[in-house]
Amino acid sequence: MRKKIVAGNWKMHTLLKEGMELAEKVERFSKEKGDDVIVVIAPPFTHLSKIREVTDLVKLAAQNCSSEESGAYTGEVSPDMLLSAGAEYVILGHSERRAYYHEDNHLLNKKIRLALDKGLKPIYCCGEVLAEREAGKLFEVVKDQLTVGLQGLNTAQFSQVIIAYEPVWAIGTGITATPAQAQEMHAFIRNLIADMYDDRIAGETTILYGGSCKPSNARELFANPDVDGGLIGGASLKAEDFIQIVNAF
Ligand code: PEP
Repeated sequence: MRKKIVAGNWKMHTLLKEGMELAEKVERFSKEKGDDVIVVIAPPFTHLSKIREVTDLVKLAAQNCSSEESGAYTGEVSPDMLLSAGAEYVILGHSERRAYYHEDNHLLNKKIRLALDKGLKPIYCCGEVLAEREAGKLFEVVKDQLTVGLQGLNTAQFSQVIIAYEPVWAIGTGITATPAQAQEMHAFIRNLIADMYDDRIAGETTILYGGSCKPSNARELFANPDVDGGLIGGASLKAEDFIQIVNAF
């Protein structure tokens, strides 16, 4: 079902104690706000199980998972491990994973399928780099990321997937997509999903915007008909900013 979601991607920030304090603040706020918006935080792997002890309304995401179920894969973390540590969601296909760890759409498809088989909800990121936008290839790039990354998912599986459109030129740069740019791509993504599945499923899909979303611009981004919330990096590390973004709905 289409939901309003604000998810905080903490990346490789916070030590355990600060992470716990941040999570506790977000949880306190969520209790006051109620359950109109689903609030998700994605701390580092090492924090998940401790943060699970101090959160209830706030849901937990991992920032990545292995494409393998178990075995001799030193340094990898499996979906089952994440579930056992309290994660419900997993961010997959973040541009930093694509750029620095060479994760491509085929590998991401394998990760998404395994995560879904195990019961984790993927937050699948897509988005073009600046050169692709300037060359007019943004729709082609995003179409490829979605069609290959989501290949072979049946309707029930796809209903568990959240899409995050994150133009790479906006991530961590302070340059935010305009509401019109965000809406244009979100509408494109929704139409693409209608082609891949059908109109009803497209209408029920949650599509988040990510890329320098902050308290000063969240309201105008979230006001777009096809923007169902945000994936927030930098601004999720300050409880006050993150809370203001959740309140922007
Ligand atoms: C992100 O990394 O997913 C992100 C959106 O980062 P920021 O909000 O800092 O641009």
